[in-house]
Amino acid sequence: MCGIVGIVGTSPVNQALYDGLTVLQHRGQDAAGIITIDNNTFSLRKANGLVKDVFHTRHMKRLQGNIGIGHVRYPTAGSSSSAEAQPFYVNSPFGISLAHNGNLTNAAELKERLFTKARRHVNTTSDSEILLNILAYELGCSDKMKLDADDMFTAIAAVNAQCSGGYASIAMIIGHGMLAFRDPHGIRPLVFGKRDTDNGTEYMFASESVALATDGFDFVRDVAPGEAIYVTEDGQFFSKMCADKTMLAPCIFEFVYFARPDSTIDSMSVYASRVNMGTKLGEKIQREWADKDIDVVIPIPETSCDIALEIASVLNLPYRQGFVKNRYIGRTFIMPGQEQRKKSVRRKLNAIDREFVGKNVLLVDDSIVRGTTSAQIVEMAREAGAKNVYFASAAPEVRFPNVYGIDMPSAAELIAHGRELEDINASIGSDGLIYQSLEDLIAAVRIENPEISQFETSVFDGQYITGDVDQDYLNRIDALRNDSAKSTREQAMSASLELHNQETGEGE
Ligand code: AMP
Repeated sequence: MCGIVGIVGTSPVNQALYDGLTVLQHRGQDAAGIITIDNNTFSLRKANGLVKDVFHTRHMKRLQGNIGIGHVRYPTAGSSSSAEAQPFYVNSPFGISLAHNGNLTNAAELKERLFTKARRHVNTTSDSEILLNILAYELGCSDKMKLDADDMFTAIAAVNAQCSGGYASIAMIIGHGMLAFRDPHGIRPLVFGKRDTDNGTEYMFASESVALATDGFDFVRDVAPGEAIYVTEDGQFFSKMCADKTMLAPCIFEFVYFARPDSTIDSMSVYASRVNMGTKLGEKIQREWADKDIDVVIPIPETSCDIALEIASVLNLPYRQGFVKNRYIGRTFIMPGQEQRKKSVRRKLNAIDREFVGKNVLLVDDSIVRGTTSAQIVEMAREAGAKNVYFASAAPEVRFPNVYGIDMPSAAELIAHGRELEDINASIGSDGLIYQSLEDLIAAVRIENPEISQFETSVFDGQYITGDVDQDYLNRIDALRNDSAKSTREQAMSASLELHNQETGEGE
């Protein structure tokens, strides 16, 4: 998963891009980058690390100009090399840079086509570099020295006709302006806003509305699936639908876990959808667990807090923050290797014994993916003195890999892959386990916008909305994502870094 921002302003945009990326940090902690245009020249800073660590004053001073884009990265296919940090850049035509959130499901085919048709070389394993090159190729098909909005939209229509998967993207073209587009299913989110200044109107694009609010932009609307928006360097605004067949099917996992609660995606408040998840799950617990004498509801911080509070209210039980989270440690999920992940759960959470001693506790999490966190937390609750430990997940069983941009483990590493409830319950060691049904999850989010007829729910039901994901593709994804593949890659990367350092004398 990644976060993207883009601003066409009337004054320098570096600080606003930085602030926008900071509030999108939850979408990716692996790498960050900003690119701006000043005097027809790109200035780029990108590196591995958090936003606050990647940009120092000297970098910010270099990022001059009134137009720019930014990116925070969370590796999807597994590589965490800094060479794959975004935005990416190509020099022809005009000079184009691009930031992308999502994953192309036909990247291999596109890469091959780029080479045979256009002799274009893609230097990383990132599908975002492929997307940039496809866009560059299409923009280069016109022999005009200056492209207009129609030329931009023709290029995006061609991009949409070739690319499959989930992509929300922002590109900048030197001497022209900013081009934002969302895939024809609108799987990944993208919003835009504007702000009036004495020198004209400024526009901002972002993965989540919270970035607009932070930067003082008024939310205008979501970019529609298959739509492209072009804002020229001098602030003229154009938009057009650039796909023949479109159908809004936003990723439901954004609501379960990824997005910030204070964001609104496709007119649905993430916070309200989580409260609704709590209502639905609370009602299910009431129906199915009438025999369980639960004393207290305890969230596994932080995403599940709003959900657990609502469950407690439905069940008329006390809600207690029984776990304290260390805010200064990274998410456990992104640590490579199962052993590392196990240790870091303990570093991240600690139990307050008095909330557990002698009680039947209901622990609530937003989702169970690998089950590493859940098993550790059940154990911690027992160690803290709980009598019985029940576990509720606000999302259904995660059984299938995600191919549209969410970093999920390989299928075999998902605790619910090919397993039934009792088996999963035994694995995480709880005295009872309950999952939200998919029907209820969809209903909980849809309450916020009944016009949505479809969500992207593949991690729960294995139905991939783009229709091109077969077992062969899933096998290839699996091979890239499993822990042993990740650790082989990490080793190869550190070996090549060491060699590079020996040759250049760096790192001494
Ligand atoms: P686990 O079951 O040990 O894999 O951990 C699941 C927890 O990780 C859930 O409680 C979520 O809060 C969080 N989570 C779910 N999906 C992801 C993801 N793709 N990346 C990072 N964290 C996630």
